[in-house]
This record gives sequence, C-alpha cells and structure tokens, in this order.
Amino acid sequence: MPERFRCVLLFGPPGVGKGTQGRILGRVPGFFHMASGDMFRAVDADSELGRKFMEFSSKGLLVPDDLTVECWREYMDKQIASGNYDSERDILLLDGIPRSVQQIRLMDDYISVLRVVHLATPDIDLMVKRMKRRAEKENRHDDADESVIRKRFEVYKQETAPLLAIFEPNIVVEIKATAAPVEVLRNILDALTPVYTESFKNPLE
Ligand code: AMP
Repeated sequence: MPERFRCVLLFGPPGVGKGTQGRILGRVPGFFHMASGDMFRAVDADSELGRKFMEFSSKGLLVPDDLTVECWREYMDKQIASGNYDSERDILLLDGIPRSVQQIRLMDDYISVLRVVHLATPDIDLMVKRMKRRAEKENRHDDADESVIRKRFEVYKQETAPLLAIFEPNIVVEIKATAAPVEVLRNILDALTPVYTESFKNPLE
C-alpha cells in the first residue's frame, strides 16, 4: 500500500457541480470518486451518526471535524476491503472533503494532494437556484430552504475557502464553473491528464 492516497480535490462552493463532474470522472478507470455528502446521506438516519448528520446539515452547518474524518477513514477502509478502491492503482477524487483547515490537518497523514480543481463562480444566486431545483429532484432536505442554502455559502466562505491558501499555487487549477458542463469537463480533463497519465498503469501492458 502506498504511504498516502494520491488524490485530487474537487473544490468549490455548494451547488457548483463538483458532484456532477466527480460522478462522470469516477467512471474513468484509474479514478475513484468519493463524495462526503453522499457518504453521510447513506448513513442510517436512526443511527447516532445519522442523527448527528441531520442535526448539522439541516442547519447548513458542517458535521464536526473529528467525526467527519473518522467516518471518512472508515469509509475508505471499506472501499479498500471490498476492492472498489485500490490505492496503488486509483487516483482518489475527493469531493466535499476536506472542508476545513482542521480536516486537512487530520487527513494529512493519509492523503497526498496532486491537484486541487477549484470550480469557481461569481454567481451565488445561480448556485442557489440550481440547489433548490436539485433539492426537489434528489430529496435533499438541507437544500430545500433558501436560508439554509445561504448559510451553507457563509460556512463555505468562513471555513472552507481559506483552505485554498494552504496549497502550493502550482497545484491549484481554477475552472469557471458557470461554463457549459461539457466545457467544464474538458477543462478538468485538461488539468488532470498530466497527473493521470503519469500514474496510470495500463492493465493490458
Ligand atoms: P454536500 O452534499 O457535500 O453538499 O454535503 C451535505 C452536508 O453534509 C453538508 O452541508 C454538511 O452538513 C455535511 N458534510 C459533507 N461533507 C462534509 C465535510 N467534509 N465536513 C463536514 N460536514 C460535511
């Protein structure tokens, strides 16, 4: 097993398209997509963790850092044990985690960040509109209420965005998230192709 998971961070505010792009990229052999929001939503709502998740997400707040990173580690262990994720073969696409300076500290021993794909947008109102539509389609209780969505943006600005300053500028790629999804995808692929080709082992060779 390599010392650390080689990973790419899909970074940006809520509703910016990290999940959409991450799910597409995750279909490419050699990439493994992991979305922390999906991880939490899959937890049994009656369990202690499920209740904690509801308590925080319903207010637009982050689940506490220790709990989040512990849950992430257990989740990754399961993905490795079940053979879904092979840390030597796959680049891990982290979507929605780390989301605070403390989280990246707690994850530091486990991850090596190759690239940070920053999906950026100046248009918060467009994001809010997208999220309300998505909330109805995907049954996301936390995004049904506009005041909760606005709180999520505030939390992003306060707790998540400061992470960007931690990375070496040469690994951060800013991509305009308001472009058409295929264009966003092409730009992400352009940014990731060098790291991908460097590490991809063709199973046929
Ligand atoms: P998302 O689907 O990424 O928008 O996440 C939905 C909710 O899950 C967030 O509003 C948080 O309450 C919680 N959540 C997801 N990822 C994290 C994280 N890395 N740290 C803390 N809370 C998280």
